Amino acid sequence: MKPAAAVFANMSTTIFEVMSRLSVEHNAVNLGQGYPDGNGPDDVREQAQIALADRPNQYPSMWGVPELRQAVAAHGKRFYGLDIDPMNEVLVTSGATEALASCLLGLIEPGDEVVMIEPLYDSYLPIVRLAGGIPKLVRLTPPDWSLPFDALEKAFSAKTKLMILNSPMNPTGKVFTPEELKFIAGLLERFDAYAVCDEVYEHLVYDNHKHIPLMTLPGMRERCLRIGSAGKTFSLTGWKIGYITGAPGVLQPVAKAHQFLTFTSAPNLQRAVAYGLQKDDSYFKGLAAELSTKRDKLSQGLRQNGFDVMPTAGTYFICTDISGISGGLNDVEFCQKLTREVGVTAIPASVFYEGAPPTNYVRFAFCKDVPMLDEALQRIAAKLPKMRA
Ligand code: PMP
Ligand code: GLN
Repeated sequence: MKPAAAVFANMSTTIFEVMSRLSVEHNAVNLGQGYPDGNGPDDVREQAQIALADRPNQYPSMWGVPELRQAVAAHGKRFYGLDIDPMNEVLVTSGATEALASCLLGLIEPGDEVVMIEPLYDSYLPIVRLAGGIPKLVRLTPPDWSLPFDALEKAFSAKTKLMILNSPMNPTGKVFTPEELKFIAGLLERFDAYAVCDEVYEHLVYDNHKHIPLMTLPGMRERCLRIGSAGKTFSLTGWKIGYITGAPGVLQPVAKAHQFLTFTSAPNLQRAVAYGLQKDDSYFKGLAAELSTKRDKLSQGLRQNGFDVMPTAGTYFICTDISGISGGLNDVEFCQKLTREVGVTAIPASVFYEGAPPTNYVRFAFCKDVPMLDEALQRIAAKLPKMRA
């Protein structure tokens, strides 16, 4: 038999599926895969039901239903002051995963260099490689995960087609600072490159931190493709509705890729997301407030049990250093044992790296119900000492 596509054939199943399956097998509390326990806002789900019953269910336009494109544009104006033409500058996709694939396949030519920041979300590298791109990786280091300006500058060259920027960033919980964004913008201009901005956690930002889309910086409006996800903004990760904002010249080729990946997504879900994006500011503030309380609870509990917990400014995630409590286990072994013997699932952070990854970081998701967080912490307190013995 002839071999299948090497990019995928030589790769293991995504860590999120692997750990969630192991979690179910061991009846563990799943603080691995980043999805909330709840079922999203009742009114948004109700709008999906109404649209399913009463509105058309045939193919919508490949660009998305007009009301969602309008809502995405209005949301960009309300939160970031962006002036967006809903009919030419918004593309609705099947989740941010498809948005990312459409952007990368639509822009990258074989041999183009793509600057990416490690640790990085697991779908980026395979799609960059599928498109024939050459990854140029720049690594951040904890606990502050600040951007190494020199290394970033060295990663850019005349061959750089684009950079992928994930802020707020999975798995670190970092929100890029205004100075870092300014530096990135300078490099994009100097090397005439695009930015694919993965901003799925745009509303999950805590304390005094602020999410600033790179697109809002001077000179960046034409260079950036900004990606959002209803999954995160409405705690409905299974819906897989994403949206890309970008200037027509750069969005057109992305739409060409999108038309042959998924073409469109369920119209009732699009209509419900359009409704959701128009909710009051209090909804968006409330979501961040609730999550920051959960972040504090889990951070404190993990710290009390010996984890070295790093600060998290945004996202669903806490990163911890397990060096002091791992008893010599690497992150993968530790997470497997934690699921099997303690009944709590987490994600080994080495999967977010290429090459020689650090093996002492473990990621926990705090977007779960409070009783679940309590149960996880109780199990850790009761059984982690035995697991380490
Ligand atoms: N980007 C990042 C950084 C993520 O963490 C995720 C996980 N959901 C995605 C993209 C994919 O989002 P979606 O579920 O909308 O496809
Ligand atoms: N983004 C989620 C996470 O980081 C997982 C998404 C997925 O399972 N594909 O946990």
